[in-house]
Amino acid sequence: MKADHFEQQKLLALADEDVALTQLAHRKRTLPEVAAVEAAAGSERAFAEAEVRAGTEVRDLDREQKRLEADVDTVRTRASRDQSRIDSGAATAKEITSLQSELQSLARRQSDLEDQVLELMERRETADAALAAAQSGRASAAADRERAEQLRDDALADIADSTGRHQATRDEVAAGLSEPLLSLYDRIRKQTGTTGAAMLKARQCQGCRIELNGRELAAVRNADPHEVVRCENCGRILVRTAESGL
Ligand SMILES: [Zn+2]
Repeated sequence: MKADHFEQQKLLALADEDVALTQLAHRKRTLPEVAAVEAAAGSERAFAEAEVRAGTEVRDLDREQKRLEADVDTVRTRASRDQSRIDSGAATAKEITSLQSELQSLARRQSDLEDQVLELMERRETADAALAAAQSGRASAAADRERAEQLRDDALADIADSTGRHQATRDEVAAGLSEPLLSLYDRIRKQTGTTGAAMLKARQCQGCRIELNGRELAAVRNADPHEVVRCENCGRILVRTAESGL
């Protein structure tokens, strides 16, 4: 293929834009801010789960404490009724003996229940602390996530802005190229994944960084300036300039 030597130079500007666009796309895919958002969101979820668990524990202990307190009330009521019966003087000696025995047993039961309430209150304290820790952890993780989201959005906006500018420049350069040369360039660009042309600089293809051997160099040197020559190694269009070392 032949293309005006000056037109071929424009491929270098096109390649520069494609390199920039490729780097921007890579940056977008590997943005550390995205990973930071995911990490903060993961931590937020873990704290939220811990909060649910601690909340359930607190409610269970509350219910258990109410039940124990109701039991204590029942025991107290019963003991006070027994005591009133004794104090009334209306009970027989045999009944009094039986009531006193029951009062002893009720006192043991009450003491046992009160011990259980105390133990429960200790567990409740631990559960309350766990709930508070989970709540503050979740709030702080949520704040971290929001900050990370802001940073990510800023970075993405920055990338979108740069991409727009490079794309506009690329479109402008591409508009100045003939269709066959542009479509050859684009075909090669799809193969390499980056650019379709590279400068031949100091006998080295700047696309694949491989130096041309004597035969390849002679072929390029002898080629018409308007002939489109390609790197035998990477396939890119080799753009010859004063720095090519020919
Ligand atoms: Zn090459």
